[in-house]
Amino acid sequence: GREAADTLLCVSADRIGAGLRREDLVCRLDADAFAVHLAPSERLTFDAILAVAERILRSLSEPIVVDGVTAYTSASAGIALPRTLHDPTGAMLLSAAERAMVEARAEGRGTLQVYSSEMSLVARADHALADEVAAALESGEITAWMQPQVSVDGSQILGMEALARWTHPERGAISPAEFLPAIEAAGRNERLTEIMLVHALKSLRHWDATGYNVPCVGVNFGPAELRSPRLIDKIKWELNRFDITPDRLCVEVLESVMAQTDNDLVVRNIRALGAMGCHIDLDDFGTGNAAITSIRRFQVSRIKIDRSFVFDIDSGGLGAVLVPLMVRIASEVGMEVVAEGVETEAHAAIVRGMGARFAQGWAFGKPMTAEDLEQRVHETASTTEP
Ligand code: C2E
Ligand code: CA
Ligand code: CA
Repeated sequence: GREAADTLLCVSADRIGAGLRREDLVCRLDADAFAVHLAPSERLTFDAILAVAERILRSLSEPIVVDGVTAYTSASAGIALPRTLHDPTGAMLLSAAERAMVEARAEGRGTLQVYSSEMSLVARADHALADEVAAALESGEITAWMQPQVSVDGSQILGMEALARWTHPERGAISPAEFLPAIEAAGRNERLTEIMLVHALKSLRHWDATGYNVPCVGVNFGPAELRSPRLIDKIKWELNRFDITPDRLCVEVLESVMAQTDNDLVVRNIRALGAMGCHIDLDDFGTGNAAITSIRRFQVSRIKIDRSFVFDIDSGGLGAVLVPLMVRIASEVGMEVVAEGVETEAHAAIVRGMGARFAQGWAFGKPMTAEDLEQRVHETASTTEP
């Protein structure tokens, strides 16, 4: 009965809350799921977090007496740690914890799982999200945000990268890490790229018309799109439609994709894009194990050094050794270098010292909506007026 179920939930909530600190938070998510947020603290080591979860699971497996009847319950737990997430917002943490909980539940009663990036945030069985994301693509909820790419002294805008964002009516901006797997599951990768491409070209037209000088826009192309026999015609057609020359489009291809390319169509498409004058940017360089010889088959204009080499470059990270080498290799083979994830002035100064000429990162601007970008251009224009 409902009352008994309510009692059960209340007792469970009390038990969950019993061992927590005042700063921690317990919320009921839906029918039978709770979320616990542990407030950050020095003493909150990984072991301590596991111990809290285990204690909660144990307390929930104690029988509960409701109206003289003994109920035997069990629970499963999923744990998410901010440092394992690319983008540790509250929403992402919650999704990751829920994802881990689904895994735990599949393993059996009373188990717990810690989220890892190998667990796709979307369970394959999650058809509902795949449908929702496919609808969002068509309704215009998924748009391109733009992030500036600048000369490393920050004085010049050299381009923008179009990054997909889902502006969800209830949840606000959702990052691609969270919805790309659902796009994949829905088989809508090509459609996403088409939408990003159109946004990118439209934006170029708009900037041209308003006198804002943006030489090119980068669009991310995944393996599904690069395998398409229609790719070249499609891009030519869109460029024509917006009257934009091919050199203003940077096609970003992940190093991992370019490295394993033994697919003839992918090779042919990337080559054809280069031949027609588009720039090819090698994305996340340093993470994909590409041999420099495999890259040289393509007309790569720029390598984008992955942000994992930049974030700790000022505290003796591996990047301190590797970035100068990457810059040298790139210049030997006639490619430019873009340092990604340049978050601070210190990062910028260091990568500049290492010979990188281009940079992208929070130090110069986060990905922003068309409106925010407009606002920023406006402000910069008014502050530089005499
Ligand atoms: P990416 O291509 O490496 O894009 C750069 C990511 O780094 C973006 O994350 C951006 O927000 C983030 N970022 C930029 N500057 C900084 C910084 O200074 N510090 C840190 N920590 N992060 C920074 P975002 O937008 O979440 O995109 C994640 C990934 O999703 C992209 O990585 C890209 O691989 C993929 N993606 C985004 N949009 C699309 C798309 O339209 N199509 C496809 N196929 N993939 C996309
Ligand atoms: Ca990219
Ligand atoms: Ca990248």
